[in-house]
Amino acid sequence: MLPPDDFINVAPSSVAERERRENIHPEGWRNPAPAVCYNLVVIGAGTAGLVAAHAAAALGAKVALIERHLLGGDCLNVGCVPSKSIIRTSRLYAEMRHATQYGAQIPGDIRVDFPAVMQRMRGIRARISRADSVRRLTEAGVDVFFGTACFSEAAAVTVDGATLRFKKAMIATGSRPDTPSIPGLVEAGFLTNENIFDLTELPRRLLVIGGGPLGCELAQAFSRFGSKIIIAQDWPLFLPREERDAAQILSDAFARDGIEVRLNTRVVNVRAEGGQKLVDLVSEDHESTVEVDAILTGTGRVPNVDGLNLEAAGVEYDDTDGIRVDDFLQTTNPRIYAAGDACLEDKFTHTADASARIVVRNALFLGRQRLSALTIPWCTYTDPEIAHVGLYVRQAHNQDLSVKTFTIPMHDVDRAIADGEETGFVKIHVKEGTDRILGATIVARHAGEMINEVTLAMVAGTGLRTLVRVIHSYPTQGEAIKKAADAYNRSRLTPFMKNLMRKWLSWQRGGDGPSQTPPSAT
Ligand SMILES: Cc1cc2nc3c(=O)[nH]c(=O)nc-3n(C[C@H](O)[C@H](O)[C@H](O)COP(=O)(O)OP(=O)(O)OC[C@H]3O[C@@H](n4cnc5c(N)ncnc54)[C@H](O)[C@@H]3O)c2cc1C
Repeated sequence: MLPPDDFINVAPSSVAERERRENIHPEGWRNPAPAVCYNLVVIGAGTAGLVAAHAAAALGAKVALIERHLLGGDCLNVGCVPSKSIIRTSRLYAEMRHATQYGAQIPGDIRVDFPAVMQRMRGIRARISRADSVRRLTEAGVDVFFGTACFSEAAAVTVDGATLRFKKAMIATGSRPDTPSIPGLVEAGFLTNENIFDLTELPRRLLVIGGGPLGCELAQAFSRFGSKIIIAQDWPLFLPREERDAAQILSDAFARDGIEVRLNTRVVNVRAEGGQKLVDLVSEDHESTVEVDAILTGTGRVPNVDGLNLEAAGVEYDDTDGIRVDDFLQTTNPRIYAAGDACLEDKFTHTADASARIVVRNALFLGRQRLSALTIPWCTYTDPEIAHVGLYVRQAHNQDLSVKTFTIPMHDVDRAIADGEETGFVKIHVKEGTDRILGATIVARHAGEMINEVTLAMVAGTGLRTLVRVIHSYPTQGEAIKKAADAYNRSRLTPFMKNLMRKWLSWQRGGDGPSQTPPSAT
């Protein structure tokens, strides 16, 4: 985490940045006098903390929210919001380069205005920061404290010299980028999600270490802005969690974007020389050195558990997996719960949100909601996007479930053809012999939007038989899901039924022979 003084590495005259700061960490803020006792003290004001604080206060609880840096946490400041903003512009540049395919002419060269891209992103971030603002919290009745929280005992936390006593507390301290231990990396300097959005100049050559979602999204965006990108991934594949055909489609898209992907490749040394960085790579038995202007690391996340004095509160934790919680999100101290990246394997904004809602119900209202009952989709916002929900085939097999899969290529979907967005597929897995959806993977330009329909069906217990009856507007890319349901329906037609129907229709048109009685199937 960058210290607060390094808050924003742009001209202080930026109106957008001044608005953001005013919203999420106003200058001269004075913490309130603590209440005698809080129903809920929330540590960390990222998505999980904000959702819990607002929800609990709306239900009448006395709530304190403690944030050491910026309200909104990673998602607003250095995660989803800035990344999706620049990805939007990068897609536009990619489309402009292929304008002639759409019958459009772009006069002259397409010149990327990187400072303008980043300025647009800052404007969006400032606008969205209004929803996470101090003002909204205080209007909702939440006591907002800026400072680093630290447990002093099992039912008290200290911040900025004040002691806050609580009936219940929630730890929502999030996560930070993992720094790979590569000799010379720290000395040479590198980018993470915490400082890449402060760039005012486009790196001409960028090495991305790590082929996970963060590395893939930003690699493609920066490539489309004009950076020469190399992705180094020490595994034999990237997006290791996704199905292979999905990752392969992305691999092909990266090749079209001119991104160099080096799999099975380790970064073994970095040194700064003459204004550039020389990076030694080892790919199986082959050694090479690449020269780049900047290095972005995307090698995973580490939960923020240090400095909280969790021992004093009797809360068990692990430096890698974070706060130890049970299925009700309760820690080893029954008064204290956790939510979001600090304790979850699935580190997403929507899981931070959903887990915070579980905590409010379980901690304050004797709820028994389980984390394991959630159906969690996710999406990697590359082009095409890769979205998933539920089980992968390998997971279903591990659970001894037989799977039948219905796949619709996007090039069979009229709207995808009309949009020139034919790359990808919708793949829905059902339990063999039933229409129960076990999981789905969608690779498509708008897969993140499309997966929501499948998630809804799974949560509502709606199988493919019902999806067959859902009329989808024509032409939409979501029709691919309807087509998968149609394919399921067709698979129900047994040879016996087909035979019966054939004979029935033949009889209706007067028959192929002399018989005038309705047919039997035999
Ligand atoms: C580049 C990038 C892109 C992403 N894109 C997406 C996306 O498109 N979709 C998606 O779903 N997810 C995305 N994510 C993940 C998402 O940002 C996180 O899962 C989400 O922000 C987690 O929320 P949280 O509340 O658990 O933690 P955070 O947002 O990390 O908030 C934790 C807060 O706790 C504060 N804190 C920590 N320790 C203390 C302490 N001792 N005292 C007081 N305060 C403390 C921190 O300052 C921070 O503000 C992305 C992440 C990155 C890095």
